[in-house]
Amino acid sequence: MLTDYHVHLRPDDITAKPSAYFTADNLDRYAKAAADAGVTDLGVAEHMYRFTEALNVWSHPFWEEWALDDIDQYCETVAAGPVKLGIEADYVLGAEDKLDNLLSRRPFEYVIGSVHFIGEKSMDTEEYTVWDERGDPDEIWRRYFETLAHAIRSGLFDILAHPDLVKVWGRAQRLPSRELAFYYEPAIEAISETGMTVEVSTAGLRKGVGEIYPAPKFMEMCVDAGATFALSSDAHQTDQIGFMYDRALEFLAAHGVAELAVFEGRRRRLEPIGREVEAA
Ligand SMILES: [Zn+2]
Ligand SMILES: [Zn+2]
Repeated sequence: MLTDYHVHLRPDDITAKPSAYFTADNLDRYAKAAADAGVTDLGVAEHMYRFTEALNVWSHPFWEEWALDDIDQYCETVAAGPVKLGIEADYVLGAEDKLDNLLSRRPFEYVIGSVHFIGEKSMDTEEYTVWDERGDPDEIWRRYFETLAHAIRSGLFDILAHPDLVKVWGRAQRLPSRELAFYYEPAIEAISETGMTVEVSTAGLRKGVGEIYPAPKFMEMCVDAGATFALSSDAHQTDQIGFMYDRALEFLAAHGVAELAVFEGRRRRLEPIGREVEAA
């Protein structure tokens, strides 16, 4: 079993319209690319903030600019196709009821929870960046993992996306003063209470940091805390499906992880990791 659940049907481009990407043809292209990459269980997880309904949850100016599309049209198109229907939903502290209302009424196979913002500031976009002149690395790392802990405990999500996204810029940003394990601790406590499924994502290999999410030390702490793991590429185009999975498989094996979380109807089961070998 090889999963790729954190896959976007379109690029992060405001002009990328649903009519061009949320189509049966595009879903077929994705399914074929997944089969070619050896991914046996493919799901797509579009960004929640691109749907108008997200504005009922939060009205940040970034969301007001990007929330243009109809979530139910997305759900209907994907549910009728050959891949699993998921969503990448931002956690918004204090808006748990509104998030639950948006997520629980729709036929998702799984919901991926992300922390892209702390307060009004963004972790991974240049616009609204948390790394402005007032950005203190200790404060940013501390608040990021505290917010992540709230997201984990909210019970709203099946999978925790790119769990140490705070590192995304790599050497382009300053590191905090203490050992990184210190900052991971609140999230690890929440994982150990909940048995959260943590995403191992190869997307970090395409970013400034050049490293899988989570970092090896964080991964080790997740394993010790009893986490289960999902495997994803965070692809935004077909040629990124299963991106650098050989590295991810080595990483999982090195941490003694032999099973992946598989989701159906928001229920989790574990299946052995492995590339399917074609019969001779
Ligand atoms: Zn994300
Ligand atoms: Zn994503």
